[in-house]
Amino acid sequence: MSKAWVVKAAKQPLVLETIDLGLLGPEDIEVAVEHCGICHSDLSVLNNEWGISQYPAVLGHEITGRVTAVGPNAKGIHVGQRVGIGWFSSSDMHCRQCMSGNHHVCPQVQATIIGHRGGFASHVRAHWAWTFPLPEKLNFADAGPLLCGGITVFSPIMMYARPTSRVGIIGIGGLGHMAVKFAAAYGCDVTAFTSSERKFDEAKGFGANHVVSSKDSAAIMKLGASFDLLISTVNVQLDWNAMVGTLVPNGRLHLVGAVLEPIRVSAFSLILQQRGVSGSPTGSPVAIETMLDFASRHNVLPQTEHFPMSKVNEAFALLESGKARYRIVLDTDF
Ligand code: NAP
Ligand code: ZN
Repeated sequence: MSKAWVVKAAKQPLVLETIDLGLLGPEDIEVAVEHCGICHSDLSVLNNEWGISQYPAVLGHEITGRVTAVGPNAKGIHVGQRVGIGWFSSSDMHCRQCMSGNHHVCPQVQATIIGHRGGFASHVRAHWAWTFPLPEKLNFADAGPLLCGGITVFSPIMMYARPTSRVGIIGIGGLGHMAVKFAAAYGCDVTAFTSSERKFDEAKGFGANHVVSSKDSAAIMKLGASFDLLISTVNVQLDWNAMVGTLVPNGRLHLVGAVLEPIRVSAFSLILQQRGVSGSPTGSPVAIETMLDFASRHNVLPQTEHFPMSKVNEAFALLESGKARYRIVLDTDF
């Protein structure tokens, strides 16, 4: 049995219920949740913005907790261990993608909060390959957001940046502020693009060398061709053509923020400068382990605001208002 904050239908407040998690699968891990971040994706699933929500839903996918049960065929995890679980909670473990280490693009990959019960609960379950032991040095209460937001921005930095790269981070929210910290720790020259003037100084505090308004097309175009990589964490339309115009030849605009409308970019701007536009979903299990190790060595953690989990509805309202600084984490209080 688990206590859980349940969403009954789109845009409805979460209500506390007791749910039966059923038999533990042979390869599954059960975790007593202690902390769980709120990602903008939780809000999008709550409001069914992507049209793929399944109700009743238990949201929450930036989980840290302790292992309470281990299925008989699970590997590498033991009862009592401190672990984290993120956006994905299982994959089929036999397809070409899983067999090549790219479990996060497995056709059967299971999102933790869509058709599966997430972490705004006393207990949550995941496959052993998607349950990550946390390095000792990492602050347990604040590490949850690394498991979704953190890996989502670390992954493109690892794939496409070098320490000598000039990197732009678009949108300084939950994902964006962690992206600035990761790119700075990686050695990159970092420019933060934000629509909030109040965040200019704070972005520099996270390690940004420069800050530019994400809404000022003229200021963006003035930057010329200067970035090797732009990572967009926003879920709104911006002047993408102006953004792409700031990429050096072979540069890349990488989208992780879930903009609903198509991205308009001039073909000539891509062709003549050999530029690219791409996207990615969180990261593979090995990338997550690498990220946790890097975060613990360089002390990369989100800046958090903690709420008791019983205040989950107030916490969602704060996230929706755009005033969260910079990631909300719920502490279980059942
Ligand atoms: P968040 O904390 O709400 O941050 C989003 C940021 O976008 C805001 O802080 C704001 O930054 C910017 N923004 C919002 N409205 C804007 C507007 N009208 N004009 C310009 N900028 C605006 O959200 P998050 O948790 O970081 O998530 C960001 C996005 O990533 C969401 O779409 C989420 O679903 C998605 N996501 C994707 C993955 C993946 O695997 N690809 C994983 C996790 C999340 P400024 O104030 O600095 O402008
Ligand atoms: Zn997320």
